[in-house]
This record gives sequence, C-alpha cells and structure tokens, in this order.
Amino acid sequence: MSAPPRAELVVDLDALRHNVRLLRAEVGEGVAMMTVVKADGYGHGMLEVARAAREAGADWLGVATLDEAATLRAAGDSGPLLAWLTTPGEDRAPAVVADVDLSASSTGELAEIADAATRAGKPARVHLKVDTGLSRGGATGAEWPALLAAAVHAAREGRVEVTGLWSHFAASDEPAHRANDVQEQRFRDAVAAAESAGLHPRVRHLANSAAALLRPTSRFDLVRCGIASYGLDPAPGQPGTARLDLRPVMTARATLALVKEVAAGEGVSYGHTWLAPHRTVLGLVPVGYGDGVPRHASNRAEVGVAGARRPVRGRVCMDQFVVELGPGDPTAAGADVTLFGAAPHPSAQDWAEACETISYEIVTRIGGRFVRRHVNRHDQGARSS
Ligand SMILES: *Cc1c(COP(=O)(O)O)cnc(C)c1O
Repeated sequence: MSAPPRAELVVDLDALRHNVRLLRAEVGEGVAMMTVVKADGYGHGMLEVARAAREAGADWLGVATLDEAATLRAAGDSGPLLAWLTTPGEDRAPAVVADVDLSASSTGELAEIADAATRAGKPARVHLKVDTGLSRGGATGAEWPALLAAAVHAAREGRVEVTGLWSHFAASDEPAHRANDVQEQRFRDAVAAAESAGLHPRVRHLANSAAALLRPTSRFDLVRCGIASYGLDPAPGQPGTARLDLRPVMTARATLALVKEVAAGEGVSYGHTWLAPHRTVLGLVPVGYGDGVPRHASNRAEVGVAGARRPVRGRVCMDQFVVELGPGDPTAAGADVTLFGAAPHPSAQDWAEACETISYEIVTRIGGRFVRRHVNRHDQGARSS
C-alpha cells in the first residue's frame, strides 16, 4: 500500500475542458475564445492547461510574457497566441519568427517590434492596445493617433501586420460600475479612429471572463477568458455568473500529519493567537506559507475533512498549520484534508474571502512543495498525465 502524497494540487483537465466549452456556448457563434494561460495557467500548469483548452476549442491562447509564449511554442503549440507584456530592449524577434502576436501600447514599443520584424525577416503580428480607463497598459486617448500613424507606416513598409485592436476593463466584475460604459465607448471610438486611419484588423477584443459573461456588447470578435476557464466565479455575488455550471479545476489537498487532543486553555501555534476553549482534537496539516498557503488564513479559513468543514486555528506557519477537528473527533493521522476544491469542500473563493483577496491570487500563489497532478476523470480512476 502506498501512502497518499503529503500535499498535492490535483488539476482536473476534464473540468477545464468543460468550462472552456461552456464559455464558448455562452458567448455564442462568431466570437472567438482566448483561454488565458499566463502565470503557469493561473497555477494549474500552463502546458497541460493549454493543451486541454485547445482540445476544447480555444481558438487563441493568451499569455503575459515572451518566455511564456516561447515555452508554449517549444511544447508544440502552433495556434494563435498573444503575448502582451514586454519591457524595453527585450528581443522580440524569436516571437515574430514563432508567429506570436505581440501587443504594442506605445510608439516606442511598436518601433521595437518593427525592428524585430526586420531582423526576423517577416512582418510582426501586432495588436494595438488602447488604454480606455484602466490606466495600466495601452496608449492613452492622446497617444492613440500617433500610435495608429506609426502602425500604418510600419504596415506600409511590410514590417508589421496589425492583427488586432484591444483594451482591458477595470471593473468588469462590477457590471453596474460606470467605468464599464465609459471604457466600452472609448474602445468603440478608438476602433473607429483606427478604421479611419485605414486599419481594419479582424480581431477587436475587450472582454475578460466577467465581461464576456455579463456584458454581451463588449464581446466584439474575441473574449479573453482566464479565471472562468479554471472554474472560478469571475464576478462573485453577481447572479449572472453564479447560475453557470463552472467546475473548479484545482483541488488543493494534503494528508493529515498528526492528530492530538489538547486540554482547555492550551494555546495553538505561534503567538498563541487561539486558545482552546475546551478539550478538543487538533489536526496538523503539513503545508504552510512556504507552499503558498496565505498566512492571512490564520484563524480565518476552513478546510474539508471527511466532508465536514474544519477551522484553521492559530497562525499558519511556513510548513504547517493546525485545524480543529473538534471534541472527541475520531479522524486519524493520514486522513485526507482538502484546503479548497469543489463542493462540498471549501472553494478557492471561500479562501479568498477568508484572506481578503480574490480567488485568482489563491490558485496562482499556491505551489511550493505541493506536487501537481493532472487528471482526466473520464479515464477510469483519474489517470495522471
Ligand atoms: C489576465 C488577463 C485576462 C484574463 O482575465 P480573467 O478575469 O481571468 O478572465 C484578460 N486580459 C488581460 C489583459 C489579462 O491580463
């Protein structure tokens, strides 16, 4: 008999495929689907997620960095792929050679891309990014005409092909936020200005998961879905997303290392921030902030043990934390503990709320010494891949 692993992230690729198909069905025909796999697939494993997303019909993949794009190409992915975060001086030529679409937010960035295209010996595929109100990437409204003019010029020289126009929302998870209307209108204006300048790229895109689901007018030609692909609610508390059958892809589990009974009044973990109010049974979970378990979960989050929720007691340490199993609880060391996953266990969203953050951060930061295991549940007994 082999012991269950100390700590695992079980990634259900069937759930990922289900979510991608569900999102495709929601946004409808005529809207292309980009699955966003940056940051190691939001902590789920970029290559495995990318492959499963393509299998489920993702037309595009989206990443932040050139390294991420290069890793996908080296693994054999040859489909449409957009990378949108670079710094001055980075060599974009390999990305041009590999048919990676690049984003340009400024004339300086566009010039670097055009230079890379010259060196690569073929036109670069470029999405011009307009800042419609996030004040992060993108050209401001004041800078947009100059970026368009530079793109028209570089296109005439055959150094770039403008394949997309795009922007990103600031508050799409709050559909009633006034920024959404303002940003969508600014985007329409920016697209119109590009068309007047003679640019007619096929792919205009603005929506992330929340906007794709909650704001149909923002879908344009393509939606960029990250968090919803991983089965997490992109707009917690909004009825439009809670009704969907999104399935959590990641389960973070561990094996209870030790179980013990303590007397009333005993302090638990560093600083004794929790004192047992009664004689009770504690369980030791062998993961901690060194594995990306937020220390902020101390005395706040819950885990699932044998179908029941059990509270974290005291501080989360580097390698371990303590949960209260309860007075007289019969659970033994070696039992399975689910930090978060699918119902009835706590969700990544539950952990996010306990830790005053968002589910994105919970799944993306978890890692460390957790071992990741990809499973395909339609195969008998959840084969690893
Ligand atoms: C991460 C990211 C997305 C995906 O957002 P979700 O809310 O996870 O769907 C889309 N577009 C850009 C520019 C991003 O950085």
